[in-house]
Amino acid sequence: MNLTESISQLKGVGPRRGKILNNLGIHTIMDLLYYFPRHHLDRTIFTQISSLKKGILCSVIGKVQTFSERFIRGGKMFQVVVYDGTGLLTLNWFNSTQYVKNFFKVGDKLVIHGKVQWYRGFTITHPEFEKIQDHEDPTKTGNIVPVYPLTNDLKIKGVEQRMLRTLIKEALSCIDQVYEIIPKDVLKKHSLISLKLALTYIHFSDGIEKLNSAKNRLKFDEHFFLQLLLALKKKSIRLSKSKRLIDIGPYFRPISETLDFELTRSQKNVIQDIHADFRNDYPMNRLIQGDVGSGKTIVAILVTALAVGNNVQVAIMVPTEVLARQHYDSFKLQLDKANIRCELILGNMKKNERSNILAGLEDGSISVVIGTHALIQKDVLFNNLGLVVIDEQHRFGVNQRANLIDKGKSPHCLAMTATPIPRTLSITYYGDMDISIIDELPLNRIPVVTRVVEPDRLSKVYDFIRTEVSSGRQVIVVYPLVEESEKLDLAAAVEAYKELSKIQFNGLELGLLHGKMKSNEKKNMLNKFERNEISILVSTTVIEVGIDIPNATVMLIDHAERFGLSQLHQLRGRVGRGSKRSYCILVRRKTTETSRDRLAIMEKTSDGFKIADEDLNLRGPGEFIGERQSGFLSYKIANMITDGPIISDARAAAFSIIEKDPSLENSVNEPMKRWFMSHYSNYLEKINLS
Ligand code: ADP
Ligand code: MG
Repeated sequence: MNLTESISQLKGVGPRRGKILNNLGIHTIMDLLYYFPRHHLDRTIFTQISSLKKGILCSVIGKVQTFSERFIRGGKMFQVVVYDGTGLLTLNWFNSTQYVKNFFKVGDKLVIHGKVQWYRGFTITHPEFEKIQDHEDPTKTGNIVPVYPLTNDLKIKGVEQRMLRTLIKEALSCIDQVYEIIPKDVLKKHSLISLKLALTYIHFSDGIEKLNSAKNRLKFDEHFFLQLLLALKKKSIRLSKSKRLIDIGPYFRPISETLDFELTRSQKNVIQDIHADFRNDYPMNRLIQGDVGSGKTIVAILVTALAVGNNVQVAIMVPTEVLARQHYDSFKLQLDKANIRCELILGNMKKNERSNILAGLEDGSISVVIGTHALIQKDVLFNNLGLVVIDEQHRFGVNQRANLIDKGKSPHCLAMTATPIPRTLSITYYGDMDISIIDELPLNRIPVVTRVVEPDRLSKVYDFIRTEVSSGRQVIVVYPLVEESEKLDLAAAVEAYKELSKIQFNGLELGLLHGKMKSNEKKNMLNKFERNEISILVSTTVIEVGIDIPNATVMLIDHAERFGLSQLHQLRGRVGRGSKRSYCILVRRKTTETSRDRLAIMEKTSDGFKIADEDLNLRGPGEFIGERQSGFLSYKIANMITDGPIISDARAAAFSIIEKDPSLENSVNEPMKRWFMSHYSNYLEKINLS
């Protein structure tokens, strides 16, 4: 038998089973070896039914006493009662298949695993289960048993745990054909076992240590090849030629020396990082991570001035029109000091206004342009685009960024994000970029006071808001807008706005802002708010990105439990930008244990990185990735959250290999390269590796 052969070669795999296995992604013998267990059961520990406890995960051995199907609200339930000599346990299946119903006979001996609940007795819903022989003592059949990811309700008829175990045992007879894909010295350095052993122990091992060493090795592999890809990407960027931007030029100082504040140490460092990158003849690919309010905009303005001083054009892309306008104002305020021509491009401009700007960009008379994704339309052409700045970069897809970059000849690229992400994530998601961190807020900032309240306290909160307004301050009230329920949410926000205007804040000036408004309506509303003609702005989450109104001192976020913590942190960053004490009030409408814990974190810290860590633990990495590299999430065994040290090792190993052997031509790297090419070819288009 051969590793690359079809599973139909195996005993017991006929056309029907073959098809089911194919649906699980198993086609070859090799695929079977790489079909890792979801977890392992320690078969030395079984619990007696009489000593079960609610909420625990347990394994039980028992015999089927009765089974029955009953009608319940919304469908049918199939129940099996088992007895182990000490007590009764009920197993439940909702909407079960014929397969489950036909599976059990009275007297069958079962091994059961699952989470114990209590409903008129101990129950387990959708347990893992397995029929064993009457004489069989599972505590003696090997102590660590693999449990494979097969769907619980056994939709996959005919492929059971034990039969999969048998097939994999059979497949393991080919293990000697598996070749090593990680160079020996790397294995040695990081104390990793061979691939052969790892693929064996991950399925069958006689001890937890062997199993763990298998997990470590296989996790390492997944992280390693991803890091290899990132290392290659980074290397390949260095092969393109960019214009060096060496001079300070005439524009930087007139701006930097006339600011009405002192740059923070972090801001200065980042500008230095960027200026160093500019001097290279390959494109900068740098990400600034800086918390909300840490002052990224002025950094972008100053490096724009540097770039223009070297006779190139600069394009700044931002995700929303509101932010584009605000940036335009901030840029213009500074760039005017140096007589740099700066324009704004939005989606719906007057035709001749737009064509004037396009002409100016094409002939080079406009040096700086700010815009939304309107910037990446085909007819936008540059004379000499040398720097691309992408603000709130996680809001853009890979292609959108690439489209803008392609408008120049390998321009330098600066991405900015206010979503701090934990380090383990950033070396995975942004592993091909250089990262600068702004880790301090301007000195004059007073931390925002954050309080979580329940709806019954709202009247007090409204009193407080009226007091703030009467002393001239402004307030933002935010309602959630979740994509799945956009219409309902919008209706709720509009409703709340009406009620607040009529009742709680009767007599005050209120405004409403949401994503469905026309862009000039939004603009007018924000202008009014900026000029303090409106005291209370009721908004959906469109307010989230970037806007800056120093006189706003209170933010009230309703249904706060529906937001991610990082998102709340972003929102909170909209206040506390001036020199006055500011407040963020989180209204918790639904109280669950997790919502209580999560929101409490917001009261305790204003450190975006800490909040990101907590969010990662509580909600998983989905919050942070957006579109970028989400394809990489299809890990089989690796875990971005808990594999921190392995990720660092894998990164160090991969980057040092590419440093020494950039095209992987060295013969010791040959098996690794072969594996890489066959598994990561989807991601390789842009990398010149043959
Ligand atoms: P973000 O990093 O969230 O984009 P901004 O660039 O919008 O933050 O900056 C927030 C506010 O802080 C702006 O009003 C800006 O003028 C101000 N600011 C930036 N840097 C400093 C500084 N070093 N000292 C004082 N205020 C600053
Ligand atoms: Mg910003």
